[in-house]
Amino acid sequence: MEKGISPDFLGQEQTSHLTYLTWDFALFENEADKQLLNKDLVCAACGHPVTKVSDKIDVRGRHAYRFTNLGYPIQLGCYGNASGSIGTGRISNGYSWFRGYAWEIQLCNHCYTQVGWKYMNAETHFYGLVFKMLREADPKEPDVGETE
Ligand SMILES: [Zn+2]
Repeated sequence: MEKGISPDFLGQEQTSHLTYLTWDFALFENEADKQLLNKDLVCAACGHPVTKVSDKIDVRGRHAYRFTNLGYPIQLGCYGNASGSIGTGRISNGYSWFRGYAWEIQLCNHCYTQVGWKYMNAETHFYGLVFKMLREADPKEPDVGETE
């Protein structure tokens, strides 16, 4: 069963837990930038990796947007990929925050809490994920089998 975004969860301040939003990325490759870009953005409800900082993109010149959802302010970021999320299969061409895009509710594919929306049109698609539904985390080491 899918769980929506609880209005109780949304306040005026929705971004300070994500350090990458204010990080000053350098023009040249460096270790600190690389570490931050490599971080997972995990589901706030269960810790499952949903996307990565390096998957952040700008849409129409911006990464972060602020909208009103059912009367509550909601802040979200745009990502080119969100491999840890799954669509509900109900695609809407109704009112869209991003004009020209249809949208589909996206859930964490582990605990089915809503993490945002997928936006799509004939040419392209991207994910709009709610900052409050994400946490930064170091990627887990890949499981290495027991060595004899
Ligand atoms: Zn989850």
